[in-house]
Amino acid sequence: DPRIDGIKTKIRVVPDFPKKGIMFQDITTLLLDPKAFKDTIDLFVERYRHMNISVVAEARGFIFGVPIALAIGAKFVPLRKPKKLPGEIIFEEYELEYGSDRLEMHVEAVDSGDRALVVDDLIATGGTLCAAMNLLRRVGAEVVECACVIELPELNGRERLEGKALYVLVEYQ
Ligand code: IMP
Repeated sequence: DPRIDGIKTKIRVVPDFPKKGIMFQDITTLLLDPKAFKDTIDLFVERYRHMNISVVAEARGFIFGVPIALAIGAKFVPLRKPKKLPGEIIFEEYELEYGSDRLEMHVEAVDSGDRALVVDDLIATGGTLCAAMNLLRRVGAEVVECACVIELPELNGRERLEGKALYVLVEYQ
């Protein structure tokens, strides 16, 4: 798709951020370009609008999941860091390079039988998507697919998804 190249050129790569040796993929520059930002959302919407997705979930950022949910007529469920959600929650803890992180979800937001799409800006080790999928499954939702703007294939994040389909727009080598 010719739109992919336009999207790629708007992602800024920042060397040594947040620490030495990391090539940080900065999607905030993509958001500054209304055409490339819209193309990004459109590509996801075109793929998911006829897949009977009833819930879109995204961890922490919510930048891509919200417009996708609105466009395909699905509810949006935020997966948040601790102490942000006031209702009854479940949580998943997952390992980071140093220490661990936790995602929380409102239990009553998702129904058993919901068909879920899990969205994130980027997949690195896959830990975030894996935790997100576990939250949705624990309340009985079926995770249909995961979708990311960027994949860092060298980190083998796909292996953490245990064969679950992952759709990405841009791979960074
Ligand atoms: P994972 O859990 O290791 O797959 O890391 C993915 C999470 O870390 C996503 O929520 C990303 O927002 C964030 N992340 C990791 N590396 C980058 C990067 O280079 N740019 C932007 N976000 C990143």
